[in-house]
Amino acid sequence: MRRIAAGAALITLTLTATPAAAAAQPQAGTGAPALSSPTQERGAVLSPLARQLGRQALPAGDGWAAAGPGTTGGSAATADQVHVVSSRAELVAALGGDNATNAGNATPKIVYVKGTIDGFEDADGRLLDCTDLADPGYSLAGYLAAYDPAVWGRTAPSGPLEQARVRSVTNQTRHTQINVGPNTTLVGLRGARLTGLTLMIDRAPNVIVRNITFDDARDCFPAWSPTDGDTGNWNSQYDQISVRRSENVWIDHNTFTDGDNPDSAQPLYFGRPYQVHDGSLDITHTASLVTASWNRFDGRDKLMLIGSSNTVGPDVGRLNVTLHHNLFDGSLQRLPRVRFGQVDVYNNAYRLAGAGFEYAIGVGVQSAVYAENNHFTLGAGIDAADLLYDWGGTAVTTRGNWVTPARGLPRPVDLVAAYNAVHEPALSPDAGWTPTLRRGPVLPAPLVPLAVGPLAGADRLPL
Ligand code: CA
Ligand code: CA
Repeated sequence: MRRIAAGAALITLTLTATPAAAAAQPQAGTGAPALSSPTQERGAVLSPLARQLGRQALPAGDGWAAAGPGTTGGSAATADQVHVVSSRAELVAALGGDNATNAGNATPKIVYVKGTIDGFEDADGRLLDCTDLADPGYSLAGYLAAYDPAVWGRTAPSGPLEQARVRSVTNQTRHTQINVGPNTTLVGLRGARLTGLTLMIDRAPNVIVRNITFDDARDCFPAWSPTDGDTGNWNSQYDQISVRRSENVWIDHNTFTDGDNPDSAQPLYFGRPYQVHDGSLDITHTASLVTASWNRFDGRDKLMLIGSSNTVGPDVGRLNVTLHHNLFDGSLQRLPRVRFGQVDVYNNAYRLAGAGFEYAIGVGVQSAVYAENNHFTLGAGIDAADLLYDWGGTAVTTRGNWVTPARGLPRPVDLVAAYNAVHEPALSPDAGWTPTLRRGPVLPAPLVPLAVGPLAGADRLPL
């Protein structure tokens, strides 16, 4: 019985996840000039399936990114704005030509990523290292010697060495932060990988990112924050994708990983992990109308921040995000952590590791999370009461979620009741809204890991 039900669900999901099904829907952007010959693309010949994928818009009703004008990305690109890129220099050229001004390039464009592009490549394709990006006045050894709490005390670093670190960050940002403009679609060809870089979508509405593996957006110059937490923390600057001041953004079928540079392999300095990563997908600074679907997030500490400030100001009424059919695998916290936004979290699969786990869904200031039919596989020592965390919020709606404990059978769970049984103050079980922007059937939670496990992430779409 169970196998039959799971198989039927997989077939349904495969259909809804394929570009053929999506392309059958009437979509904005499909009136754009068709590419009559594969030789028209710059850089490589594209298969018909790849060309179809690049022309796709977000299907109607598919999450918050379908609100307002919807999300069409670069689907209306003319033939001369369809690019295939395989180096950092080609990527910057395709996005408009100058990384310093590309964020303002609103020409519709489709950019196919072929192979691996490393954010540390120079114009000739040579790989820079952290030393190349460092200001002459900065060294890690010098920084560790100067700001050791035993020497410096527990106040924020300041003075020439800290100033040299900040200049180094500016150097790195110019190089490894790749700025994307409005009306852009980025699509990975099979095996496409963006490593060591941040995709910055800032003041850039209408962007689509699909089928790309994001690997290790590392910070060469983490900052020591002695008053962050009880014992201080190292903090890093670079997300894998950062969405700011932008609307209508669709992040679909990507894989986010730290590859061979995981958080768990970082050294301890001043007794704290030397954190070279920030978020995988952070949505902040009044961004809104974002759908993140069918992505695979592999283990890291802080995964997804929605809203970065408790200030009751410009973020109010913004930060509306839909997360569906994502796999959160082995991450420790912020899955997501939410402030202000109406955030729909449905049909996601969580595989939560025991060691170091903090919480899954962070209920922050004025947040309104609606978490429905998610499945949580719990590592050793994780209890259903640990899945929510109160970051200053008051309410969260949770319905139809299931847990599979480390020892025990899968079972339905009332996440708010489990949380309230052991925490004060209690969270209200009504976040005050009901999502309407959903596409396709909402799966029963027990089927979610069976569907999301094999189908989420890069290299699952037919190409
Ligand atoms: Ca390359
Ligand atoms: Ca961040």
